[in-house]
Amino acid sequence: MASSMEAQRKSLPIYSARDRLIREIKTNPCCIVVGETGSGKTTQIPQYLHETGLSKKGLIGITQPRRVAAISIATRVAKEQSVSLGAEVGYAVRFEDCTGPSTKIKYQTDGLLLREAIQDPLLSRYSVVILDEAHERTVHTDVLFGVIKGAQKERRERHIKLLRIVIMSATLDTSSYSNYFNNAKVLYIQGRQYHVNVYYTLKPQSDYIHSAITTVLQLHGEEESGENGDILVFLTGQDEIESMLHTLIQCKSLFPSHWKDMMVLPLFSALPSAQQQKVFQKPPPNTRKVILSTNIAETSLTLSGVKYVIDTGMVKGRGYNPLMGLDLLLVQPISKAQARQRLGRAGRESEGYCYRLYTEESFLQLEENTVPEIQRCNLSSVLLQLLAMGIKDILSFEFMDQPPEESLIAALEELVLLKAVNKEENGEETLELTPLGQRMSSFPLSPSLSSCLLASVDYDCVVELVTLVSLLSVDTVLYTPTDGREKADLARMKFFCPEGDHLLLMKIHKAYQTSNEKKSWCHDNYIHARNMSTVQDIRKQLKEICRQNSLQLTSNNDGERLRKTLLCGFFRNVAEHVRDGKYLTVLSRQEVFIHPSSCLFSVTPPPPFVMYTELVHTTKCYMRMVSVIDPKWLFEIAPNYFHKTMTTNMIQD
Ligand code: ADP
Ligand code: MG
Repeated sequence: MASSMEAQRKSLPIYSARDRLIREIKTNPCCIVVGETGSGKTTQIPQYLHETGLSKKGLIGITQPRRVAAISIATRVAKEQSVSLGAEVGYAVRFEDCTGPSTKIKYQTDGLLLREAIQDPLLSRYSVVILDEAHERTVHTDVLFGVIKGAQKERRERHIKLLRIVIMSATLDTSSYSNYFNNAKVLYIQGRQYHVNVYYTLKPQSDYIHSAITTVLQLHGEEESGENGDILVFLTGQDEIESMLHTLIQCKSLFPSHWKDMMVLPLFSALPSAQQQKVFQKPPPNTRKVILSTNIAETSLTLSGVKYVIDTGMVKGRGYNPLMGLDLLLVQPISKAQARQRLGRAGRESEGYCYRLYTEESFLQLEENTVPEIQRCNLSSVLLQLLAMGIKDILSFEFMDQPPEESLIAALEELVLLKAVNKEENGEETLELTPLGQRMSSFPLSPSLSSCLLASVDYDCVVELVTLVSLLSVDTVLYTPTDGREKADLARMKFFCPEGDHLLLMKIHKAYQTSNEKKSWCHDNYIHARNMSTVQDIRKQLKEICRQNSLQLTSNNDGERLRKTLLCGFFRNVAEHVRDGKYLTVLSRQEVFIHPSSCLFSVTPPPPFVMYTELVHTTKCYMRMVSVIDPKWLFEIAPNYFHKTMTTNMIQD
């Protein structure tokens, strides 16, 4: 086994460049490594650096934009090194640390390394930091660019051991990266492991899901005998994935008897990680795997068996409106860089095929690169982290691409309102993190969530807020199958709370805790068992952080008290009912509606004032996770803020 693994490692294109890579990375403090997908960058370079002894002086850290990649690659590399996962090779993702005292090679999400930098801005445990898949330009990678560049400089000035930086990708505009990293050396790795054939459609497709289904069925039918190539389809979101999954499963009953069986597997970030892991497993004999995925499978992953990639050319991307504090999710065309990454998921174990469900002309018109996330997201978390690292002069922080000024201002205003930051205007504007802000930054949560968690100290309900915040930190604990919505609603009716979704979640959690058979209880009540157990892990970790901050774990489960405490972090997210289910946000007078998934959705008459902890924009602006509030609480909780923005209704009250 070990020797076949060894042979496989040596057969990768990158192997012939091994000595050169080691030499260059040893002699240049910053390197940029560019090589085709599948050449061996992510799995091999960290091992080479380890084998050459660079890990003796500190960790080799490799970031990934997504947790599923960090976990699966660490698993693979541990196998290649013949060590158990969590020993020499480990991984760390939010709320899960699988490393130990002997760990030398550490795969982690970029968000997590950034969090480590708060405690240790010089990243002194590391001898090498590799930022992988840099082209994705997640907000965390972008901030890390500046943080590691600063750490390297400071370590040099203070004569602390050198921090080596490696930036990797298959698709990069090398000159702008090289300029940013002090003329970093650019290293190219020749060769892709296996060829991938690309096909385009002759005409534009009006319905890409329909074309994707047809393509899967055609491939499956044509390839009924012989080779067993699995299929990976890129779609934009959970809804699309579930509906296509449903259609394919229905089609299966129509397959002629001599066809192979088909095993259809979904993959999206909200899927519990045990279910995500299924895509990496071998299907039963005579069965073809068809994986329906969002762009979480776009980079880094090797999905063993996949020979065909079907690329719809679309992605659901983040957008942000700083004036309204509104997160948007929009379905939009991918960039050329993304199309190349998707193609790269085929041809990792043998020759591959990529079917682009758009014309070659449309491909040529795609943007070259994806717009960096930092230019289209809420920056309050990032700003709090930078301040906690001691970086006060945000405007002169060296971003590779500057975020829009209005996003920075909106983020700053949010932090000032949450009392995390003092804005002192003595001639020059300086930003000071308050002791509260410092504490907030020690929680791996958004500023609003950590702010209400800390408010619970004054309201003597720390235990309850830890639970509530944990429940809000997983995607959802309510399991609602596409074809069983009514049954699920019926089963969960007994948890209904006239006060809204937050107390409903608390009620569900309490019932869960007192049940003996957790798994069957979850099944009977349409509750996500996996997500519920993740909630338990998060609770444990948050309690631990509370202890480290010397917060007493007080407890009180009065519903009004809990909603007031929550309001301390979300007082800007308040809306008042105008008519027929239409609400206006108290602050920005933005039209919003209660989301159909909320337990307050069909309550009549609609509650006059509500607070929400999430706002999503699909066909309309929807408040998800909604609770009834009394507007008088606002004067008590945020008096400075609310006498300025009182509405006529509230004054009459
Ligand atoms: P890159 O980062 O350059 O895209 P990787 O280092 O991720 O490449 O992977 C290189 C090759 O190693 C893959 O093309 C595949 O052949 C092999 N490989 C990596 N991970 C696995 C795995 N989990 N199972 C089987 N083969 C793998
Ligand atoms: Mg890679």
